[in-house]
Amino acid sequence: MNLISLNKSMKNKKVAVLGAGKSGLSACKLLKKLEAKVFLSEKNKNYNIKELEKNSDRFELGVHSEKILDNELIVISPGISKNKDIFKKAKNKNIPIISELELSSWFTHFPIIAITGSNGKTTTTKILENIFKETDLNVFISGNIGIPFSEIVLNNIEKNVKNGLHIIEVSSFQLEDIFDFSPNIAIILNISEDHLDRYHSMKNYINAKMNIAKNMEKHDKLIFNSEDGLILENIKTKAELVGFSLKKNIGEVFFMNKNKIYNSKEEKLISIDEINLLGDHNILNILAAATAAKVYEISEKNIRNGIQKTYPVDYRLQKVNEINKISFFNDSKSTNVDSIIVAVNSFHENLILILGGRDKGGDFKKIITHLKNKVKQIIIFGESKKIIEMQIKERIPIYIANSMKDAIHFSFKNAKSGDSILLSPGCTSYDMYDNFEHRGKDFNIEVSKLILSKKKIKNINYEL
Ligand code: ADP
Repeated sequence: MNLISLNKSMKNKKVAVLGAGKSGLSACKLLKKLEAKVFLSEKNKNYNIKELEKNSDRFELGVHSEKILDNELIVISPGISKNKDIFKKAKNKNIPIISELELSSWFTHFPIIAITGSNGKTTTTKILENIFKETDLNVFISGNIGIPFSEIVLNNIEKNVKNGLHIIEVSSFQLEDIFDFSPNIAIILNISEDHLDRYHSMKNYINAKMNIAKNMEKHDKLIFNSEDGLILENIKTKAELVGFSLKKNIGEVFFMNKNKIYNSKEEKLISIDEINLLGDHNILNILAAATAAKVYEISEKNIRNGIQKTYPVDYRLQKVNEINKISFFNDSKSTNVDSIIVAVNSFHENLILILGGRDKGGDFKKIITHLKNKVKQIIIFGESKKIIEMQIKERIPIYIANSMKDAIHFSFKNAKSGDSILLSPGCTSYDMYDNFEHRGKDFNIEVSKLILSKKKIKNINYEL
């Protein structure tokens, strides 16, 4: 579908929005502001009708019906997969299907820095946010990080904001349905197996990710991990390529001697002991963010300050507690096999690993080599515990837990002073929780309860 000729004026246009989640509702609000006639279609029949009434001119609940086809444009929410008949019919009727990202981009003229990758998007977005906060630029953070792009765009229209810069975290789902969306600077952090339950093949997943660069022009910059084979094989863009690397002295900034990040003149930018994020993967995220900031001509002082002020985002390899020199790390956001590997690689030894949840079709055999001489106990919980156990049957002892509480109690019972207990599930949380935050919170609560009970016992003993 060629949308170049598409009239982007929304006035009186009949637009269907599919999915009344956060980004769907926000798209409705933007569309209503632009005077479109909004039809909102929500599959979940238990959804609050009042919310639908408030945000649309017409709506349907419990189905995505053929009424959708009675519109001139379809805005699809990221959670909805297009493997359904209704989308074939829409295509046959030449009704454009776009993402909320694409729609919103039509109504802002501010420069855009967009960040994508299988892992590290939120952390890198946060680092960039902190760097840009050091400047006097008017920066707006949005996307997958939890604030819909359309909400920011609507806000700026309403407040008549004249200047600004968007930093947007974008997922492959949002990139599936873009046509004209084109960031001025894009970062591709990495590509590894993910969401194979939706894409069925790596090729489809990679194509979605690579869409980020398809409309970029010569004067735009595409920042990418130059050691990532899948990116190198699949990159296709007119934009200028700026690589970053953990191993080679290339690009705007690089890492050397395992302890410092330097600029291209080999002057020190920041040392590792000034950084509050753990692991080589976070060095890569810092290199990516610092490269984007350098390309945007932000001063090194601001870059350094921004990096120093960045702490782990909640549930990303975050140390949450310690008792008797046994540390608890919460990496609940780890939802694919690769993020288990980077989490484990951030530790040197004495690790007890808790993983499991709802499997997305990842290959857990890949983690085995990374566990050797480091992980002394594996604990698996959640819906896919048997599948994972079968894949990683190893010499390392495996315990199958019934619940988070069970997993934590068993870990603690088997831990010695100096050990780290790491929750890095490598799976989605939807088998037992609302989302990864919910799972992360449960981990923290159960750890706190355990520690409290141990301290109480200690106190009682002491008093006796
Ligand atoms: P995303 O937003 O892409 O899900 P996050 O920054 O939320 O990424 O991090 C999710 C998990 O991915 C973290 O818990 C960490 O284990 C892993 N991770 C973070 N950065 C990287 C990276 N550069 N490469 C590989 N894995 C990473």
